[in-house]
Amino acid sequence: MPTYADQPSRSPWIAQMAPDGPPRPLSADASTDVAIVGAGIAGVSTAFFTLRSTDLRVLLIERDRVAHGATGRNAGQLTTYFERPLYDIADEFGIEAAVEGQRGFDEAHDLLDLMAAESGSTVRVERFVGHMGMFSLNHLQVHLRNGLVRRKGGLKPEECVVSEDADFLDQIPGEFAGLYQVVPQARIRELLETTDDRYRAVLSDLKGCANAGLFVEQALDYLERAYPDRFRYVDHTLVERVVVGDDSVVVEALGHCVTAARVVLCTNGFTDHVVLDDSGAPIVLHQRQQVVGTIGFMTAFFEDQPRTPAAMSYIRNTTIGGDVPYVYVTRRTYDRPEGAATLTCMGGPEWPIEGPWVRDAPFPGPLLSTMDELIRPFAQPARPPGLPYDFQWHGLMGYMDGRVRVIGAHPGRPRLLYNLGCNGVGFLPSIHGGRQIGRILAGEALPPSIFDPR
Ligand SMILES: Cc1cc2nc3c(=O)[nH]c(=O)nc-3n(C[C@H](O)[C@H](O)[C@H](O)COP(=O)(O)OP(=O)(O)OC[C@H]3O[C@@H](n4cnc5c(N)ncnc54)[C@H](O)[C@@H]3O)c2cc1C
Repeated sequence: MPTYADQPSRSPWIAQMAPDGPPRPLSADASTDVAIVGAGIAGVSTAFFTLRSTDLRVLLIERDRVAHGATGRNAGQLTTYFERPLYDIADEFGIEAAVEGQRGFDEAHDLLDLMAAESGSTVRVERFVGHMGMFSLNHLQVHLRNGLVRRKGGLKPEECVVSEDADFLDQIPGEFAGLYQVVPQARIRELLETTDDRYRAVLSDLKGCANAGLFVEQALDYLERAYPDRFRYVDHTLVERVVVGDDSVVVEALGHCVTAARVVLCTNGFTDHVVLDDSGAPIVLHQRQQVVGTIGFMTAFFEDQPRTPAAMSYIRNTTIGGDVPYVYVTRRTYDRPEGAATLTCMGGPEWPIEGPWVRDAPFPGPLLSTMDELIRPFAQPARPPGLPYDFQWHGLMGYMDGRVRVIGAHPGRPRLLYNLGCNGVGFLPSIHGGRQIGRILAGEALPPSIFDPR
């Protein structure tokens, strides 16, 4: 068995970004209207919509380089589902609020296009219908219940087909009539690009893919050109402390203080900084909104033949929410200096975070071999086992217990805002969050939402 033990982690998205320029750390005390911490997709989208919808000055502070966090180390899939069933979110917050949250994520496809157009981004964005494979009545019922919530809330349900050979066909409750179609098993195979007849049902929805890292790098470049008098970016600047007072906020980094009217945390939720009120008491979010992240692992390989872009996921647990990670495969056109090629990315395994995350560390133990054995057949069954991968990488996934990101102002401390706490789906949700923060900072009173900090 190959072990791949000494192959360093390397992300295909960071490989497409410009080489690092000279560091630009914070070198003196400063003042601004809005300090944003974190220059990933959440921070840069927040800066974009704040600058666009207000006259405020914005200072964006990054401890590393732009888009070198999760934004440069994901699957780059454009998708808008919650990693918790929508009906469950509706049970907690009500149907209207759950659907409004879903609508916000769905609309972020348009916001991405708007950001790309205004910033003159050259990033390739591909869109297509993606598919998820299911094999048990439990899977199907979870997604059909989500479909009911969507329908009740006025959103189009996702397309769902069930194989005429599914042994649970007769057990599907009547309340789901009209939310799925029965099709030959051959159609299931075709949609999922598999010969594995365990899969008996497919859920399909609008998906897409893009290099989030390159997109963010280009958007940041645009903001610096478009707003030279109101926007400033510093990197290599670790924010250590944020002190939120009644009249202002002080952000402490590299021995300097940034005094701001507001601060927006776009850190993906991992805290290597403290947030205090002016009496020195920590300001924390509700337990369900605290990040308990994991490390997500991915690999990618170039295909010999050009193939159409696709996004496919395959549930592997009998009951949704079980321990076996689902597999996700994203196939895309990847631009290289020598021409475009098809790059297929595969992911699924997640490990708990033990000790500091080291970005270029090789995969732990036999993980890459295990992925090669168990996940590669979903991605490309014709690819022989044991070949080296063109890329393998990992990144921090900011899961929260509540599985709903946090967007908005702290209820007791309105100068402190958040756009964070994504999970494995954060590309479009971060953009939605950026737009919402921009609206709040422009003085709009937004209605209560499932994303409200608690
Ligand atoms: C393996 C993997 C696969 C994924 N696949 C997908 C996918 O296909 N589709 C999808 O939608 N989402 C996916 N995601 C999730 C998505 O990548 C994230 O939700 C999104 O990138 C988060 O963006 P962000 O800006 O919040 O975080 P980040 O990109 O991590 O940015 C946060 C930034 O804050 C900075 N920061 C943190 N603390 C401080 C501090 N104290 N001072 C200064 N700076 C600080 C960090 O250095 C970092 O640059 C995936 C994630 C992983 C790890």
